[in-house]
Amino acid sequence: MDSFDVLVIGGGPGGYVAAIRSAQLGMRTAVVDEWKTENGKPALGGTCLNVGCIPSKALLDSSHHFEFITRHAKAHGIKVGDAHYDLGLMMQRKNKVVQTLTQGIATLFRKHKVEWLQGHARLVGNLQVEIRPHDKDEKQTVSAAHIIIATGSVPGSIPQAPIDQKHIVDSTGALCFSEAPKRLGVIGAGVIGLELGSLWRRLGSEVIVLEALPDFLPSADHDIARAALKTLVQQGLTITLGARVSETQVTGKGVTLHYQQRGEEQDLSVDKIIVAVGRKPYTETLNIEALGIETDAHGFIGVDDYCRTRVPNIYAIGDVVRGPMLAHKAQEEGMAVAEHIAGQASFVDHDTVPWVIYTWPEIAWVGKTEHSLKAAGVEFRSGSFPFLASGRARAMGETEGLVKVIADAKSDRVLGVHIFGANASELIAETVLAMAFEGDSEDIARTIHAHPTLAEALHEAALAAKGRPIHI
Ligand code: FAD
Ligand code: NAD
Repeated sequence: MDSFDVLVIGGGPGGYVAAIRSAQLGMRTAVVDEWKTENGKPALGGTCLNVGCIPSKALLDSSHHFEFITRHAKAHGIKVGDAHYDLGLMMQRKNKVVQTLTQGIATLFRKHKVEWLQGHARLVGNLQVEIRPHDKDEKQTVSAAHIIIATGSVPGSIPQAPIDQKHIVDSTGALCFSEAPKRLGVIGAGVIGLELGSLWRRLGSEVIVLEALPDFLPSADHDIARAALKTLVQQGLTITLGARVSETQVTGKGVTLHYQQRGEEQDLSVDKIIVAVGRKPYTETLNIEALGIETDAHGFIGVDDYCRTRVPNIYAIGDVVRGPMLAHKAQEEGMAVAEHIAGQASFVDHDTVPWVIYTWPEIAWVGKTEHSLKAAGVEFRSGSFPFLASGRARAMGETEGLVKVIADAKSDRVLGVHIFGANASELIAETVLAMAFEGDSEDIARTIHAHPTLAEALHEAALAAKGRPIHI
């Protein structure tokens, strides 16, 4: 029986990073992964690279360029005749981006001598894993001194809107439409609903988003959520809050959706529906129960701060465990676990995991919100700065949004930063670093920011938190 120092189950961002780091630390490492592309070819990268972060951002970027040309170029004095897009070419580009990156991981594996075992893994006890290869009937059993479960997550669904990947699709189906639906319904105004809703709106669909909760993005800062809602609606998204879907009927023409809002029955006829109601951890047929590895009520594998399960030498990381379902969180856990196995005391600080929603403008935040601090009875000061007052934002024609810095009232330590604006995904990094270094708002306020940049808005928001903004 082949034996490894580390065997990782799952080759997504959590698993492949854990494997590369384990190999760097001198451990003999293998990854078992069952992912196959549409063409039946095995591929590394998991959800993120194949059907998540990367293809969605490739299409979001293409559609953003199209929207700039059709809606905003004129304001810069650029005249373009009738602009058209070729969805086939756009999809080809997206597929090429995905293929290049997933193949890149295979190259990294070869470089680090990480073995890629293609097939389905099942735990069989005694730190052994049974692998059912894609192309053979024969099963193979391997053993390992340490096992890392990184099996990720799959789209959630609701019985009122069963996914058929034709009329009612999940995020995977929504990344390969052959044409922009005329009318598109989206169930769920969370991260996926807003990103994919924006993508198809930019490409010409009339998009109606139905959200069960009465509030928009309740876990974001309230001022940011309010500003984002206003802008997204102005852009043309219809966002209906407090809408509970009761039934969907696939008809010859499309789908009819029935929902209740404020006690009243409503109908909506659309060509397609994207169901984006959250994702669920994936542990099916992994046989964890037989080993005594526990899952919580939502199916997440129970782990401690070091991602250790109840079974010695079996770890779990990424979407399959508690915490945000984000690729960078999975990657950091992957690195931390490999280092922990190698005897280092690494762990991931969940308080400094940034969130980004890739609408345009983008929404990004790290740390606490004002409402969560109020609820916890923590005294804080906050300062905001609107992009309207930023020279660079004016020059770019990107004046929507604001930055907010929140600091502890006594210690001045930065507790949270919230941004709605162009390039918020990049701007947030500076503040994650500030928080990771336990920085104060004074530290950001005294850091020199190049002029003219969007980052100056962050500088000004930190100055505002100290009561001394210059440019507002
Ligand atoms: P996954 O990426 O899900 O990988 C798990 C792997 O394990 C898969 O390859 C699967 O085939 C394999 N596997 C499962 N069970 C077995 C088994 N028994 N045997 C063998 N192999 C198995 N996050 C961000 O941070 N930024 C984004 O912009 C972003 N955009 C997203 C957009 C969309 C549309 C979606 C759906 C998700 C997005 N995410 C984003 C979330 C991100 O994709 C996940 O958080 C991330 O992929 C989780 O990584 P993971 O390694 O835990 O699991
Ligand atoms: P989500 O949790 O972000 O949003 C789901 C939304 O659906 C919520 O607002 C919820 O209230 C609503 N909802 C649930 N049931 C409903 C119902 N029956 N009717 C109407 N609305 C309903 O989940 P998601 O958008 O599916 O994304 C899943 C996860 O994938 C995210 O939480 C995130 O972790 C990850 N992701 C991240 C990114 C990113 O980082 N940019 C992008 C895409 C996905």
